[in-house]
Amino acid sequence: MCDFVVVGAGPAGSRFARRAAEAGHDVVVFEQGQVGEPLACSGHVSLDLWDYVPQGARDDLLQNEVYGARFHLGGADSRAYPFYKETPVSNAIDRVGLDRVLADAAEDAGADVRDRHTVTGVSERPDVVEVTVKGPDGTETVEARMVVGADGPRSRVRRELGLPEPGELLHGVLGFDAEPDDADFVDVHLTVPRFFAWRIPRGDGGVEYGLAAAPGADVPARFDALVAEYGATIDRRCSGAIPIGPPDRVTSRRGLLLGDAAAQTKPFTGGGILYGMTAADCAARTVDPTEPDTLADYERAWRDALGREIRLGALVRRAYSLPRPVQRAGLSLFSGEIGVHMDRPTSLFSAEQLRAMLSR
Ligand SMILES: Cc1cc2nc3c(=O)[nH]c(=O)nc-3n(C[C@H](O)[C@H](O)[C@H](O)COP(=O)(O)OP(=O)(O)OC[C@H]3O[C@@H](n4cnc5c(N)ncnc54)[C@H](O)[C@@H]3O)c2cc1C
Repeated sequence: MCDFVVVGAGPAGSRFARRAAEAGHDVVVFEQGQVGEPLACSGHVSLDLWDYVPQGARDDLLQNEVYGARFHLGGADSRAYPFYKETPVSNAIDRVGLDRVLADAAEDAGADVRDRHTVTGVSERPDVVEVTVKGPDGTETVEARMVVGADGPRSRVRRELGLPEPGELLHGVLGFDAEPDDADFVDVHLTVPRFFAWRIPRGDGGVEYGLAAAPGADVPARFDALVAEYGATIDRRCSGAIPIGPPDRVTSRRGLLLGDAAAQTKPFTGGGILYGMTAADCAARTVDPTEPDTLADYERAWRDALGREIRLGALVRRAYSLPRPVQRAGLSLFSGEIGVHMDRPTSLFSAEQLRAMLSR
C-alpha cells in the first residue's frame, strides 16, 4: 500500500507529489493524458513562480516579461488606463513546459508518475482508500493511505468523495496569433459580464487573446468579436473551466482536494497556478498519511495562507460590474505606477502601494 495516490499531474498535483516524496512518503501520481496537455491556460504568472521550479528551468519556460496592464472599458481602440511598475510584475510562460518540469521534479524526488492512467473510482474504507485506475494495460485497483484529488475544475475525486462543488465555474477560451510580440503590457477589457477579456504578448509564442465569463454568456461569439477588433489571425484555440469560490470543505476521511479541484483560485483573474502550489505545500507540510486527523490541519493551513486573499479578490472582482461612470472615475484615479503584487490583493493596502501612489 502506498502513502498517497495523487490524481492529476497539473501544477498542484506534481508540486504536492514532489514535496511529499521529499518528505519520505511513498507517492504514486496518475495522469489521464500526457503531462501538460491539452493546454487550457494562459500561463501568465507572478515572479513567485520561479520559487517553485528547479534552478535552470526559467530559461526554457520564460516567454515574455510583463511590466503592467492597460485596462479598457471598451474594445481595442478604446482609452487605455495603464497600471505598471518600473520592473517586471509578471511573466508569460510556456505552460505545457511548466507541467513537464514540475512532473519531472516530482519523479526526481522519488514519486512514481504514470501518464495515460485515468482514475475512474475512489472508495474510502476505514483504514485505506481504494482507487480504481484505467491504464494502457487494463484496469487495476490501487490501495493508499490517502487520496489527493488534484484533478482540475471538474474533479472526479471531489464527486467520488462526496465533497461540495465550487461556487461557480466560468468558461474560459483562448487563441493564439503566431506573430511574435515582446511588448511590456497586457491588455484587459472590462467588456464581459462579471469578468474580462485579455490580450497577452508572449514573445516568440505570439499573441494570446482570451476571455472568461459565466457559461451561457456566449463566450465563443464574444471571443470572435475581440479577435476581429484587433485584426488578429488565430491559428490555435482552446478552452477550459475556471472554478471560483472554494467550498467550505476540501477534505474527507482519507482524502483531500488541491488546486482547481478545491477552487483555490484568484476570484478576480481566475489564476490558480500559484494558489494551487501554495496549497500543495500546505498539504505536504501538514498531512501525515498515517494520521487522518491531520487533514484538519491542512484545511486550516491553506485557508490561513490564501483565505484572506481569496475573500479580498472576490471584492476586487465586484469592481468589474460597477456602473461605467464609477469605473471610469476609479481607473482615472488609480492608474499609473503601482506597488501591488498580482497574487495578493491585500497588497493594495501595502506601504509599497502607498509609496507608488504618492510618488506620482
Ligand atoms: C482559459 C484559462 C486561462 C487561464 N490562465 C491562467 C493564468 O494565466 N495564470 C494562472 O495562474 N492560472 C490560469 N488559469 C487557471 C489554471 O490553468 C489553473 O488554476 C491550474 O491549471 C490549476 O492547476 P491544477 O493542478 O489544480 O489543475 P490542472 O492543471 O487542471 O491539472 C489537473 C490534471 O488532472 C488530470 N486529470 C483530470 N481528471 C483525471 C482523472 N480522472 N484521472 C487522472 N488524471 C486526471 C488532468 O488531465 C490534468 O492534467 C487559466 C485557466 C483557464 C481555463
